[in-house]
Amino acid sequence: MPPPRTTPQRAKALRHRLAELRGPDVPAKALDARALAALAANPGCSRRALLDGAGVNKAALASALGSPSAFGQSQFALTRGNAFEARVKADGGAELLRLVREKLDPDAEPPERTYAPDLTASGPEGRTARTALALREAVEAGGWTLLDHPMLALDVAGSPAFLEPDAVVVHPDGSWTVVEIKSFPMLDGSADPAKVGAAARQAAVYVLALEEVAARLDPAPEVRHRVLLVCPKDFSNLPAASAVDIRKQRAVTARQLARLTRIEEIAAGLPEGTCFSPELPAEQLTAAVEAVPATYAPECLAACELAFHCRDRSRTAGAVTSLGRAVRAELGGLTTVEDVLAAARGESGDPDDPAVAALRRAAALRAEALAEAAESRSGELRGAACP
Ligand code: SF4
Repeated sequence: MPPPRTTPQRAKALRHRLAELRGPDVPAKALDARALAALAANPGCSRRALLDGAGVNKAALASALGSPSAFGQSQFALTRGNAFEARVKADGGAELLRLVREKLDPDAEPPERTYAPDLTASGPEGRTARTALALREAVEAGGWTLLDHPMLALDVAGSPAFLEPDAVVVHPDGSWTVVEIKSFPMLDGSADPAKVGAAARQAAVYVLALEEVAARLDPAPEVRHRVLLVCPKDFSNLPAASAVDIRKQRAVTARQLARLTRIEEIAAGLPEGTCFSPELPAEQLTAAVEAVPATYAPECLAACELAFHCRDRSRTAGAVTSLGRAVRAELGGLTTVEDVLAAARGESGDPDDPAVAALRRAAALRAEALAEAAESRSGELRGAACP
């Protein structure tokens, strides 16, 4: 069944409900592309979808629950990253535009002047509207334009997430490129693949948001599916750039975001008075968090601030998800370690269920191997006793 149409009244009611869930006077924490890329990595988790959709500060919530997260960048890394980005964008972005042309559009005319429109406006909605206008004007003007920290909006599980890429470049042919500036080094032209992969997933989120802006223009400009990754060259402070194809990440992220459970439905299923304010006592917060279903997996440890809390709960409940998604998928309808052991021992479970049959076969093989080992050990002992 298609989701019901969002009317202004429904949107207002949802905003009000989400503000109640955050708690009185608790400001909403904006979702960034990094969080969205991680959110899309666990699309079945209603708990994360609701908390992120409501703008709950999950790091503060995890601390209030007594299971602080191990996330965050050091102040030194932040300062170094900001200094590198300022250097890359110096002189109105002349060097950055040169790199975009060199890596992505070598046939285009070289930038004669650098044009970087002022994108200031009040509030995220104002900045999003200002960015959309600047993009349209840049396409109409032709030439190269650099949008420094534009603001984009993406509908996530029924509510807008505001995103701020490092830069978007408009080419002379009117097409748009996302630029990601990172502080990890590029050595001899290549960087750590795991870090490049994370940057590509993040850039894919920006590309999806830009495509929504482009779709409102006529004709719709092309949003390029190769983005520019800029990193320090060989531990220096000089920029090195590489074009990254994000088609696969874009397709995966679009599919996963579309599958996210709608937060309006999750919020409607919560008990009256549920609130996630970090000011509340730990027991009350624990009850509120437990009221929202979660699908913990070990991958959460690298992607979600609530991972330690959810892992403890998952282990206490003996949930097989704590063993990893691959194991979970193999076990079919058996959801707890207790169920799995009972099925293996033949005490419960349908023998026609392939998972139950495989467990019993594995248990029989194990018992056979142990019996053989015990037999050969006692043979050795007998041999040692009778020289
Ligand atoms: S840590 Fe918990 S809330 Fe976060 S994604 Fe995993 S299960 Fe969901």
